Amino acid sequence: MKFHLAMTAGLAGYILKNKMRPRPEWQKNAAAETAGAGPFRVLPPRTGEKRQPHPMIGKRFPIVLMLEPLHACNLTCTGCGRIREYESTIAERVPLEECLAAVDECGAPVVSICGGEPLMYPRIGALTAGILERNRYIYLCTNGMYVARRLGEFRPDRRFYFNVHLDGMEKTHDLCVEREGVFRAAIEGLRAAKTAGFQVCTNTTVYKETDMREIEELFEYLRQFGVDGHQIAPAYGYAAVDDREIFLTREDVHEKFRDFGRIASKYPVRQTPLYLDFLKGERDLPCTAWGNPTYNVQGWKAPCYLITDGHYKTFEGLMTETPWESYVPGNDPRCEHCMMHCGFEPSAALGINAGLAGNLKMLAWTLH
Ligand code: SF4
Repeated sequence: MKFHLAMTAGLAGYILKNKMRPRPEWQKNAAAETAGAGPFRVLPPRTGEKRQPHPMIGKRFPIVLMLEPLHACNLTCTGCGRIREYESTIAERVPLEECLAAVDECGAPVVSICGGEPLMYPRIGALTAGILERNRYIYLCTNGMYVARRLGEFRPDRRFYFNVHLDGMEKTHDLCVEREGVFRAAIEGLRAAKTAGFQVCTNTTVYKETDMREIEELFEYLRQFGVDGHQIAPAYGYAAVDDREIFLTREDVHEKFRDFGRIASKYPVRQTPLYLDFLKGERDLPCTAWGNPTYNVQGWKAPCYLITDGHYKTFEGLMTETPWESYVPGNDPRCEHCMMHCGFEPSAALGINAGLAGNLKMLAWTLH
Protein backbone atom coordinates (compact mmCIF):
# COMPACT_ATOMS: atom_id res chain seq x y z
CA MET A 1 0.00 0.00 0.00
CA LYS A 2 1.12 3.56 -0.71
CA PHE A 3 0.43 4.58 2.92
CA HIS A 4 0.03 2.22 5.85
CA LEU A 5 -3.49 0.98 6.49
CA ALA A 6 -4.20 3.06 9.61
CA MET A 7 -3.25 6.29 7.81
CA THR A 8 -5.26 5.41 4.69
CA ALA A 9 -8.32 4.46 6.74
CA GLY A 10 -7.99 7.46 9.07
CA LEU A 11 -7.73 9.98 6.21
CA ALA A 12 -10.52 8.32 4.21
CA GLY A 13 -12.79 8.41 7.28
CA TYR A 14 -11.97 12.06 7.97
CA ILE A 15 -12.67 13.09 4.35
CA LEU A 16 -15.90 11.08 4.20
CA LYS A 17 -17.16 12.57 7.48
CA ASN A 18 -16.50 16.11 6.27
CA LYS A 19 -17.97 15.46 2.84
CA MET A 20 -21.17 14.10 4.40
CA ARG A 21 -21.46 16.69 7.16
CA PRO A 22 -19.56 19.84 6.12
CA ARG A 23 -19.47 22.74 8.60
CA PRO A 24 -22.15 25.13 7.20
CA GLU A 25 -20.33 28.31 8.24
CA TRP A 26 -17.21 27.28 6.24
CA GLN A 27 -19.17 26.85 3.02
CA LYS A 28 -20.43 30.40 2.51
CA ASN A 29 -19.08 32.41 -0.40
CA ALA A 30 -17.55 35.40 1.27
CA ALA A 31 -16.48 37.33 -1.85
CA ALA A 32 -19.63 39.38 -2.21
CA GLU A 33 -19.71 40.16 1.50
CA THR A 34 -16.03 40.96 1.98
CA ALA A 35 -15.01 42.64 -1.27
CA GLY A 36 -13.58 45.99 -0.30
CA ALA A 37 -13.52 45.03 3.37
CA GLY A 38 -11.00 43.10 5.46
CA PRO A 39 -7.42 42.52 4.35
CA PHE A 40 -8.28 41.44 0.80
CA ARG A 41 -7.52 42.86 -2.55
CA VAL A 42 -10.03 40.99 -4.73
CA LEU A 43 -8.88 41.42 -8.30
CA PRO A 44 -11.37 41.51 -11.16
CA PRO A 45 -11.43 38.47 -13.45
CA ARG A 46 -8.89 38.97 -16.22
CA THR A 47 -11.12 37.49 -18.89
CA GLY A 48 -14.27 39.26 -17.72
CA GLU A 49 -15.84 35.83 -17.14
CA LYS A 50 -16.03 34.06 -13.80
CA ARG A 51 -15.67 30.29 -13.75
CA GLN A 52 -18.40 28.36 -12.04
CA PRO A 53 -17.07 26.53 -8.99
CA HIS A 54 -17.29 22.73 -8.83
CA PRO A 55 -20.04 21.48 -6.44
CA MET A 56 -17.42 19.94 -4.11
CA ILE A 57 -16.06 23.45 -3.59
CA GLY A 58 -19.12 23.80 -1.34
CA LYS A 59 -17.58 21.25 1.06
CA ARG A 60 -14.63 23.13 2.51
CA PHE A 61 -12.50 21.67 5.29
CA PRO A 62 -8.76 21.47 6.08
CA ILE A 63 -6.74 18.36 5.21
CA VAL A 64 -3.09 19.39 5.65
CA LEU A 65 -2.03 22.20 8.02
CA MET A 66 1.12 23.98 6.86
CA LEU A 67 2.65 25.02 10.17
CA GLU A 68 5.55 27.49 9.96
CA PRO A 69 6.93 27.89 13.50
CA LEU A 70 9.62 30.26 12.16
CA HIS A 71 10.86 31.73 8.88
CA ALA A 72 14.57 31.86 9.74
CA CYS A 73 16.74 29.56 7.64
CA ASN A 74 20.39 28.63 7.34
CA LEU A 75 20.11 28.84 3.53
CA THR A 76 19.01 31.45 0.97
CA CYS A 77 17.54 29.26 -1.79
CA THR A 78 16.80 30.92 -5.12
CA GLY A 79 13.14 29.85 -5.24
CA CYS A 80 12.23 30.55 -1.59
CA GLY A 81 9.68 33.30 -0.97
CA ARG A 82 9.55 33.07 2.83
CA ILE A 83 12.95 34.58 3.65
CA ARG A 84 12.04 37.53 1.41
CA GLU A 85 8.36 38.04 2.15
CA TYR A 86 8.72 37.70 5.94
CA GLU A 87 12.01 39.57 6.23
CA SER A 88 10.58 41.95 8.86
CA THR A 89 9.58 39.05 11.18
CA ILE A 90 12.40 36.67 10.24
CA ALA A 91 13.76 36.56 13.83
CA GLU A 92 10.37 35.77 15.36
CA ARG A 93 9.08 32.33 16.33
CA VAL A 94 5.62 31.01 17.06
CA PRO A 95 5.69 29.88 20.72
CA LEU A 96 5.24 26.12 21.22
CA GLU A 97 1.84 26.48 22.95
CA GLU A 98 0.59 28.69 20.11
CA CYS A 99 1.71 26.12 17.51
CA LEU A 100 -0.21 23.38 19.33
CA ALA A 101 -3.25 25.65 19.71
CA ALA A 102 -3.19 26.17 15.92
CA VAL A 103 -3.10 22.38 15.41
CA ASP A 104 -6.12 22.02 17.72
CA GLU A 105 -8.00 24.95 16.21
CA CYS A 106 -7.56 23.72 12.65
CA GLY A 107 -8.20 20.02 13.23
CA ALA A 108 -6.47 18.85 10.02
CA PRO A 109 -5.32 15.21 10.31
CA VAL A 110 -1.92 15.94 8.70
CA VAL A 111 0.54 18.64 9.80
CA SER A 112 3.36 19.69 7.51
CA ILE A 113 5.94 21.53 9.63
CA CYS A 114 7.78 23.88 7.32
CA GLY A 115 9.31 27.35 7.46
CA GLY A 116 12.09 28.58 7.34
CA GLU A 117 14.10 25.63 8.52
CA PRO A 118 12.05 23.88 11.25
CA LEU A 119 15.17 22.22 12.68
CA MET A 120 16.29 25.72 13.76
CA TYR A 121 13.20 25.88 16.02
CA PRO A 122 14.57 25.27 19.54
CA ARG A 123 11.56 23.21 20.72
CA ILE A 124 11.05 21.17 17.56
CA GLY A 125 11.22 17.85 19.49
CA ALA A 126 8.52 18.99 21.91
CA LEU A 127 6.45 20.35 19.03
CA THR A 128 6.43 17.05 17.11
CA ALA A 129 5.74 15.11 20.34
CA GLY A 130 2.78 17.38 21.09
CA ILE A 131 1.34 16.94 17.59
CA LEU A 132 1.77 13.15 17.75
CA GLU A 133 -0.01 13.14 21.13
CA ARG A 134 -2.92 14.68 19.25
CA ASN A 135 -2.88 11.70 16.90
CA ARG A 136 -1.93 13.72 13.80
CA TYR A 137 0.45 12.74 11.00
CA ILE A 138 3.57 14.87 10.58
CA TYR A 139 5.76 15.73 7.61
CA LEU A 140 8.76 17.66 8.94
CA CYS A 141 10.02 19.55 5.87
CA THR A 142 13.73 20.25 6.12
CA ASN A 143 16.76 21.03 4.01
CA GLY A 144 18.32 18.09 5.85
CA MET A 145 21.46 19.81 7.11
CA TYR A 146 20.60 19.54 10.83
CA VAL A 147 18.82 16.17 10.76
CA ALA A 148 21.79 14.11 11.97
CA ARG A 149 22.62 16.69 14.67
CA ARG A 150 19.11 16.84 16.16
CA LEU A 151 17.95 13.27 15.59
CA GLY A 152 18.08 12.47 19.32
CA GLU A 153 15.16 14.87 19.94
CA PHE A 154 12.74 12.65 18.00
CA ARG A 155 11.38 9.13 18.32
CA PRO A 156 10.46 6.99 15.29
CA ASP A 157 6.70 6.84 14.89
CA ARG A 158 4.64 5.52 11.99
CA ARG A 159 2.83 8.88 11.92
CA PHE A 160 6.07 10.87 11.55
CA TYR A 161 8.16 11.55 8.41
CA PHE A 162 11.24 13.62 7.79
CA ASN A 163 10.66 15.28 4.41
CA VAL A 164 14.06 16.26 2.97
CA HIS A 165 14.17 18.83 0.18
CA LEU A 166 16.28 17.77 -2.84
CA ASP A 167 15.99 19.54 -6.20
CA GLY A 168 18.40 17.33 -8.15
CA MET A 169 21.72 15.57 -7.94
CA GLU A 170 24.64 17.18 -6.07
CA LYS A 171 25.70 19.88 -8.53
CA THR A 172 22.16 20.99 -9.38
CA HIS A 173 20.89 20.91 -5.82
CA ASP A 174 23.81 22.91 -4.46
CA LEU A 175 23.23 25.46 -7.23
CA CYS A 176 19.51 25.75 -6.31
CA VAL A 177 20.29 26.32 -2.63
CA GLU A 178 23.23 28.58 -3.46
CA ARG A 179 25.75 26.71 -1.30
CA GLU A 180 28.17 23.84 -1.88
CA GLY A 181 27.98 20.82 0.41
CA VAL A 182 24.23 21.01 1.11
CA PHE A 183 23.38 17.93 -0.96
CA ARG A 184 25.97 15.81 0.89
CA ALA A 185 24.78 17.06 4.29
CA ALA A 186 21.15 16.34 3.36
CA ILE A 187 22.06 12.81 2.24
CA GLU A 188 23.96 12.26 5.49
CA GLY A 189 20.90 13.43 7.44
CA LEU A 190 18.58 11.24 5.41
CA ARG A 191 20.85 8.23 5.85
CA ALA A 192 21.17 8.80 9.63
CA ALA A 193 17.38 9.09 9.98
CA LYS A 194 16.76 5.87 8.04
CA THR A 195 19.42 4.03 10.05
CA ALA A 196 17.75 5.17 13.28
CA GLY A 197 14.43 3.73 12.11
CA PHE A 198 12.65 6.90 10.93
CA GLN A 199 10.46 7.21 7.85
CA VAL A 200 11.94 9.60 5.29
CA CYS A 201 10.43 11.24 2.21
CA THR A 202 11.99 13.68 -0.22
CA ASN A 203 10.44 16.81 -1.68
CA THR A 204 11.49 18.12 -5.10
CA THR A 205 10.64 21.39 -6.84
CA VAL A 206 10.75 21.37 -10.63
CA TYR A 207 12.08 24.60 -12.18
CA LYS A 208 12.30 25.75 -15.76
CA GLU A 209 15.88 24.46 -15.95
CA THR A 210 15.12 21.09 -14.37
CA ASP A 211 16.00 18.09 -16.50
CA MET A 212 13.44 15.40 -15.66
CA ARG A 213 16.01 12.71 -16.50
CA GLU A 214 18.01 14.00 -13.55
CA ILE A 215 14.96 13.65 -11.29
CA GLU A 216 14.77 10.01 -12.35
CA GLU A 217 18.49 9.68 -11.62
CA LEU A 218 17.90 11.23 -8.18
CA PHE A 219 15.09 8.80 -7.33
CA GLU A 220 17.26 5.89 -8.49
CA TYR A 221 20.18 7.15 -6.34
CA LEU A 222 17.89 7.47 -3.30
CA ARG A 223 16.70 3.89 -3.66
CA GLN A 224 19.81 2.57 -1.83
CA PHE A 225 18.78 4.44 1.35
CA GLY A 226 15.28 2.94 1.43
CA VAL A 227 13.56 6.32 1.10
CA ASP A 228 9.85 5.85 1.78
CA GLY A 229 8.39 8.30 -0.73
CA HIS A 230 8.93 11.25 -3.05
CA GLN A 231 6.89 14.44 -3.33
CA ILE A 232 7.23 16.64 -6.38
CA ALA A 233 5.65 19.86 -7.65
CA PRO A 234 6.35 22.54 -10.25
CA ALA A 235 7.79 25.82 -8.98
CA TYR A 236 5.40 28.71 -8.99
CA GLY A 237 6.29 32.36 -9.47
CA TYR A 238 4.69 33.92 -6.48
CA ALA A 239 5.22 37.58 -5.94
CA ALA A 240 7.83 37.41 -3.15
CA VAL A 241 10.44 35.79 -5.39
CA ASP A 242 12.12 38.17 -7.82
CA ASP A 243 13.61 35.65 -10.22
CA ARG A 244 10.69 35.08 -12.62
CA GLU A 245 12.91 33.26 -15.10
CA ILE A 246 13.06 30.09 -13.00
CA PHE A 247 9.30 29.49 -12.87
CA LEU A 248 7.12 27.55 -15.28
CA THR A 249 3.96 28.38 -17.20
CA ARG A 250 1.20 25.78 -17.34
CA GLU A 251 2.39 24.75 -20.79
CA ASP A 252 5.94 24.29 -19.44
CA VAL A 253 4.56 22.11 -16.63
CA HIS A 254 2.62 19.91 -19.06
CA GLU A 255 5.78 19.44 -21.10
CA LYS A 256 7.96 18.63 -18.05
CA PHE A 257 5.51 16.08 -16.66
CA ARG A 258 4.44 14.51 -19.98
CA ASP A 259 6.53 11.39 -19.33
CA PHE A 260 6.43 11.49 -15.54
CA GLY A 261 3.89 8.64 -15.28
CA ARG A 262 6.69 6.25 -16.28
CA ILE A 263 8.93 7.59 -13.46
CA ALA A 264 6.05 7.51 -10.96
CA SER A 265 5.42 3.85 -11.77
CA LYS A 266 9.06 2.93 -10.93
CA TYR A 267 9.52 4.84 -7.67
CA PRO A 268 7.37 5.54 -4.56
CA VAL A 269 6.01 8.89 -5.75
CA ARG A 270 3.48 10.21 -3.22
CA GLN A 271 1.58 12.54 -5.56
CA THR A 272 -1.87 11.21 -6.43
CA PRO A 273 -2.44 10.01 -10.02
CA LEU A 274 -5.19 12.62 -10.45
CA TYR A 275 -2.77 15.41 -9.57
CA LEU A 276 -0.18 13.95 -11.96
CA ASP A 277 -2.87 13.87 -14.71
CA PHE A 278 -3.44 17.55 -13.92
CA LEU A 279 0.27 18.32 -14.25
CA LYS A 280 0.33 16.48 -17.59
CA GLY A 281 -2.61 18.59 -18.79
CA GLU A 282 -4.93 15.57 -19.01
CA ARG A 283 -7.35 16.65 -16.29
CA ASP A 284 -8.69 19.93 -14.97
CA LEU A 285 -8.69 20.53 -11.22
CA PRO A 286 -9.98 23.57 -9.34
CA CYS A 287 -7.91 25.19 -6.62
CA THR A 288 -8.94 24.10 -3.13
CA ALA A 289 -6.41 26.11 -1.14
CA TRP A 290 -8.64 25.93 1.96
CA GLY A 291 -7.60 22.26 2.16
CA ASN A 292 -4.02 23.36 2.97
CA PRO A 293 -4.22 26.30 5.43
CA THR A 294 -0.98 27.96 6.58
CA TYR A 295 -0.23 29.25 10.09
CA ASN A 296 2.86 31.34 10.90
CA VAL A 297 4.22 34.17 13.06
CA GLN A 298 1.68 36.59 11.61
CA GLY A 299 -1.37 34.32 11.94
CA TRP A 300 -3.52 32.38 9.46
CA LYS A 301 -2.17 33.29 6.04
CA ALA A 302 -4.80 34.04 3.39
CA PRO A 303 -5.63 32.90 0.86
CA CYS A 304 -2.95 30.24 0.44
CA TYR A 305 0.59 29.03 0.98
CA LEU A 306 1.74 31.15 -1.98
CA ILE A 307 -0.24 34.40 -2.12
CA THR A 308 -0.52 36.65 0.92
CA ASP A 309 -3.36 39.14 0.91
CA GLY A 310 -3.67 39.15 4.68
CA HIS A 311 -3.46 37.18 7.92
CA TYR A 312 -6.30 36.21 10.24
CA LYS A 313 -6.07 35.86 14.00
CA THR A 314 -8.31 32.79 14.04
CA PHE A 315 -8.80 29.75 11.82
CA GLU A 316 -12.51 30.45 11.88
CA GLY A 317 -11.81 33.91 10.44
CA LEU A 318 -9.69 32.39 7.67
CA MET A 319 -12.37 29.88 6.69
CA THR A 320 -15.39 32.17 6.92
CA GLU A 321 -14.06 35.50 5.67
CA THR A 322 -11.68 34.58 2.86
CA PRO A 323 -13.35 35.06 -0.54
CA TRP A 324 -12.14 31.61 -1.66
CA GLU A 325 -14.06 31.60 -4.91
CA SER A 326 -12.09 34.63 -6.10
CA TYR A 327 -8.78 32.78 -5.98
CA VAL A 328 -8.73 30.41 -8.91
CA PRO A 329 -6.99 30.38 -12.28
CA GLY A 330 -9.30 32.36 -14.55
CA ASN A 331 -10.52 34.62 -11.75
CA ASP A 332 -7.28 35.94 -10.28
CA PRO A 333 -4.36 36.57 -12.66
CA ARG A 334 -1.90 35.72 -9.87
CA CYS A 335 -3.24 32.15 -9.93
CA GLU A 336 -2.95 31.75 -13.69
CA HIS A 337 0.04 29.41 -13.89
CA CYS A 338 -0.20 27.89 -10.43
CA MET A 339 -0.24 24.09 -10.33
CA MET A 340 1.22 23.69 -6.84
CA HIS A 341 0.23 20.68 -4.76
CA CYS A 342 -0.87 23.00 -1.92
CA GLY A 343 -3.70 24.28 -4.14
CA PHE A 344 -4.58 21.22 -6.18
CA GLU A 345 -3.72 18.00 -4.29
CA PRO A 346 -6.71 18.54 -1.96
CA SER A 347 -8.93 18.61 -5.08
CA ALA A 348 -7.50 15.25 -6.15
CA ALA A 349 -7.88 13.80 -2.65
CA LEU A 350 -11.51 14.93 -2.62
CA GLY A 351 -12.15 13.26 -5.97
CA ILE A 352 -13.14 16.50 -7.72
CA ASN A 353 -13.57 15.92 -11.48
CA ALA A 354 -12.51 12.31 -10.91
CA GLY A 355 -15.48 10.42 -12.34
CA LEU A 356 -15.68 6.65 -11.95
CA ALA A 357 -12.44 5.97 -13.85
CA GLY A 358 -10.57 8.54 -11.78
CA ASN A 359 -11.88 7.15 -8.51
CA LEU A 360 -10.85 3.62 -9.51
CA LYS A 361 -7.43 4.95 -10.47
CA MET A 362 -7.12 6.54 -7.04
CA LEU A 363 -8.20 3.32 -5.33
CA ALA A 364 -5.67 1.24 -7.30
CA TRP A 365 -2.94 3.77 -6.49
CA THR A 366 -3.77 3.76 -2.77
CA LEU A 367 -3.72 -0.02 -2.58
CA HIS A 368 -0.61 -0.50 -4.70
S1 SF4 B 1 -4.31 28.77 -7.59
FE1 SF4 B 1 -2.35 28.68 -6.45
S2 SF4 B 1 -1.84 30.82 -6.04
FE2 SF4 B 1 -4.02 30.76 -6.54
S3 SF4 B 1 -5.09 30.54 -4.56
FE3 SF4 B 1 -4.76 28.48 -5.41
S4 SF4 B 1 -2.86 27.77 -4.47
FE4 SF4 B 1 -2.92 30.02 -4.24
